[in-house]
Amino acid sequence: MDLQESAYTRSFRPDDEAFGWDGVEVLAYKEDGSAPFRAVTRQVLFEEAEHGCQLRYFEVSPGGHTTLERHQHVHAVLILRGRGTVLVGSEVREIGEHDLCSVPPLTWHQFRAADDAPLGFLCLVSSERDRPQLPSDEDLAALRADPVLARAIRT
Ligand code: MN
Repeated sequence: MDLQESAYTRSFRPDDEAFGWDGVEVLAYKEDGSAPFRAVTRQVLFEEAEHGCQLRYFEVSPGGHTTLERHQHVHAVLILRGRGTVLVGSEVREIGEHDLCSVPPLTWHQFRAADDAPLGFLCLVSSERDRPQLPSDEDLAALRADPVLARAIRT
């Protein structure tokens, strides 16, 4: 373990409160609290402007879920820890450590942790991105017309 502070590296150092990295703040998943979600934290790992993208780590606690949303920007997701279920478009899949998930433009998506395990994942996004859209009552009704989606969706 390097005692000198590095300009280029940050050590992985989970503690009792968070799976995390030195000097990386554990943030609320969404700042404004306007969208429905349960038990999710966010850590921004890389956000240098030159990258044109951000790499974030999200962690959903057991039984929790991210917001059901869609947007023009895309996500590239790598599950780092735990397991759960992902809804993307018309698919619902079990997902676990080291699995990958792509979220295409304007595609409904939601990540849910198992009841007895967290779901921690890296998510790559463009620095410039549109605001997520939430489903209207009509959207929700249309999604729930599919019994597989109806069982998976958390609001
Ligand atoms: Mn999203």
